[in-house]
Amino acid sequence: MSEPTIFKKIIDKEIPAKIVHEDDLCLAFEDIHPQAPTHVIVIPKKEIVSVGDLTEEDQAVAGHLLITIRKIAERLGLDDGYRVVTNCGKNAGQEVMHLHFHLLGGRPFRWPPG
Ligand code: AMP
Repeated sequence: MSEPTIFKKIIDKEIPAKIVHEDDLCLAFEDIHPQAPTHVIVIPKKEIVSVGDLTEEDQAVAGHLLITIRKIAERLGLDDGYRVVTNCGKNAGQEVMHLHFHLLGGRPFRWPPG
């Protein structure tokens, strides 16, 4: 068995996190190295590596993650807009091999991304 990811350890409450939302399917917590005034990580509890590993059977959880992001953004008052990012694989700079969405807000963001 491979070593659990840091996010799996957060799901299992083996390491602490500042949790902003939790339900049966997903967990959201503050990023430890925030890149914006609001920087929340939203993850499925199911162990999925990245968007590149989603299958048809993950439709409900994938949709739930996006709707949960919208609800968290509303709750945190990100009325001026926000960015939702998921890094998939090496070229995108994915560091934690557990599917996650970054919810970033509280400042303007540029395009194209770096
Ligand atoms: P990525 O490059 O998309 O894989 O992003 C991984 C993110 O996880 C980075 O923004 C890290 O700052 C964040 N991160 C890593 N470890 C933790 C942790 N223990 N608690 C909260 N966020 C973390």
